[in-house]
Amino acid sequence: MMNQGDIISYLDMCKNEGVNLQRGMNFRLRSRHSVILMSLRPGAPYADRIEQEGKILIYEGHDIPSQKNGLHPKAVDQPEKNPGGGLTQNGLFYRAAMQFKKGESKPELVKVYEKIRSGIWVYNGIFRLIDAWREDINNRKVFKYKLELIDEMRSHLTELAPGLDHHRVIPTSVKLTVWKRDKGACVICGSKDNLHFDHIIPYSKGGSSLVAENIQLLCARHNLGKRDKIE
Ligand SMILES: [Zn+2]
Repeated sequence: MMNQGDIISYLDMCKNEGVNLQRGMNFRLRSRHSVILMSLRPGAPYADRIEQEGKILIYEGHDIPSQKNGLHPKAVDQPEKNPGGGLTQNGLFYRAAMQFKKGESKPELVKVYEKIRSGIWVYNGIFRLIDAWREDINNRKVFKYKLELIDEMRSHLTELAPGLDHHRVIPTSVKLTVWKRDKGACVICGSKDNLHFDHIIPYSKGGSSLVAENIQLLCARHNLGKRDKIE
């Protein structure tokens, strides 16, 4: 069972989804929910951003694969369709967002994982895809997707993901600062297994997700112990 903020290995993530995750955008993985991988591109500013105190994630679409026709992926529009005419992952997510906006379907459910280091991933939770658009950035069209964190206890996904209430996504920069400061280990016992990004003061009690001072690394045992004390 995984909770938002859990730190997992690449293998755990693949085991959890039942497939080898190779690409960033995975629409309707195994005909169930969709999966998005956030990953920092070296040397680039973070294109994915967090809004409304960690409730909203703005995710950027994907470029053409490099080496295709020798075109630089950052020099051309992000594709909506494949050369054969079918929708790309960008196109599939975009269409789902439009169908939701027109009231034709329920929002697509998207699980989001984020890579913070080689082999080290964070589960950011389950989101609803509520909007999508294209922006002109450096003279090319880039897809943007708006995802809203699900934190309703009454959600039908509660059984799949308990404890999602009152949680907020921690920005990448804060995660990296905390990881370095706590040296990749539980601040209580020093364990490096089953770690979790913990809000020192819970969001529901007024604690912020946006500052490293309110976030710490805890192992599963100490995270559970703390939860019992609060509730
Ligand atoms: Zn511990």
